[in-house]
Amino acid sequence: MLNHYTMTSDGKKMPFVISHQVEVPFGFPGAGLYRYLQLTNQGVHCPDCGFWTTKVHEYHPKQVIAGCHNDTPIIDHFNHRRFVCDVCHHTFMEPLPWLKPYQRITVIGRQALLHATADRTFKAVGEAFGRSGQNVRVHVLEDFSQQPELSERSTPLLIGIDEISLAKGKGKYRLVMYDLSIPWRPQLFVMHESRRKDEVIKLLQELPQPERVLAVAIDMWRGYKTAVQTCAS
Ligand SMILES: [Zn+2]
Repeated sequence: MLNHYTMTSDGKKMPFVISHQVEVPFGFPGAGLYRYLQLTNQGVHCPDCGFWTTKVHEYHPKQVIAGCHNDTPIIDHFNHRRFVCDVCHHTFMEPLPWLKPYQRITVIGRQALLHATADRTFKAVGEAFGRSGQNVRVHVLEDFSQQPELSERSTPLLIGIDEISLAKGKGKYRLVMYDLSIPWRPQLFVMHESRRKDEVIKLLQELPQPERVLAVAIDMWRGYKTAVQTCAS
């Protein structure tokens, strides 16, 4: 084994070793840390009858975004195994403790992707993470849907106001506000149908503690500037 890390996730030891890895540095085409994993567990329990099996039915090459390394994605390659049970003859994919079924991105990988949207467009992030800009947008919107209500969260010190297009090229723009208190972790916390000045003022006034806000980052649209000035005075 070239690199034998002890991988842990949620305190559990990961059942793989890294047999080989290649780094393509930031700024180069296809930048990323490519890791080639070998799963170390010999077998699994059958989910149907519970008996132990070590008989592999077939191998499925799998590629998973596992995190971020020097501002580039960590891309894991491994053979995902379909086992066959000696007792009930069912075949099943082995469960992967660090990955939800059918997912190609880990929780940490998803966080890295979301954080990468701090200073890059969805399209650029998609290119870096080997997926479409639309897919990046879906992750951002999903993350937003899990956020607490505005009234249940503390008001950010730094806010960014921007627009987001919900569907590619459809022109369905929404006003969005990001919590930029941690600049490399933008957190979408408001989405609104209109970016009219009076509606932006209303949104800013709805913040539970508007006096907390130190700065608001906006683009060149005059309506935002006037709205922020109105609320700041
Ligand atoms: Zn079985």
